[in-house]
Amino acid sequence: MGLKFRTIGIERLRVINDGAGITTLVAGHGCPLRCKYCLNPQYFEQPGPVAEYTVEELIREVAIDDLYFQATGGGVVFGGGEPLLQADFIHAFRQQCPKEWKISLESSLAVPGTELEKVIDDIDFFLIDIKDMNGEIYQNYTGRSNENVIQNLKRLVEANKVTQTTIRIPLIPGFNTETDRQESIKYLQEMGFLFFDPFRYEVELALGKRKAVKNHK
Ligand code: SF4
Repeated sequence: MGLKFRTIGIERLRVINDGAGITTLVAGHGCPLRCKYCLNPQYFEQPGPVAEYTVEELIREVAIDDLYFQATGGGVVFGGGEPLLQADFIHAFRQQCPKEWKISLESSLAVPGTELEKVIDDIDFFLIDIKDMNGEIYQNYTGRSNENVIQNLKRLVEANKVTQTTIRIPLIPGFNTETDRQESIKYLQEMGFLFFDPFRYEVELALGKRKAVKNHK
């Protein structure tokens, strides 16, 4: 049986935050993290509201916007959840889709390095959400260690991908501060990264339910 991508949704005609051009987001199912303010816990619920596509099926599905991709320098964004959990599929997709399509990856990099290596030369734009570079803050917020994240950031630097990489750095109420965020930026600049997208999670406590809104600044 061929590779299949497990997705919880496909969103067409996106024009922001995806690198360049008009893009289609393909949101992968599954995530190794458990962020306290996760907007979409269905990303990792089992079995979850999932559709599956072979490479050929997904190319057919997104090719409806081929003209937009080619005219604007856009393409397909693999997001999630954590799309690197399905790195073999992304590699196969890149091999078979039109060469003019740009492929972006929205990832936390919280996966073993072997998975990033599978696609590192397939990706045109990397959009990385590192949460916070402080290991303790990261552990408190995601429930996991950020060791894989740090190793994978080093891989991006070693593979000369910094000019294709934007790092998202959230201000997470109750978990980090502006000072922590500046520390993260400094750490990443020392590694060699150039482009950052600071934003804040706005959290409302209402009826005992937490709601987080990504608010880009
Ligand atoms: S990385 Fe994203 S999908 Fe995964 S738990 Fe965190 S917010 Fe949710």
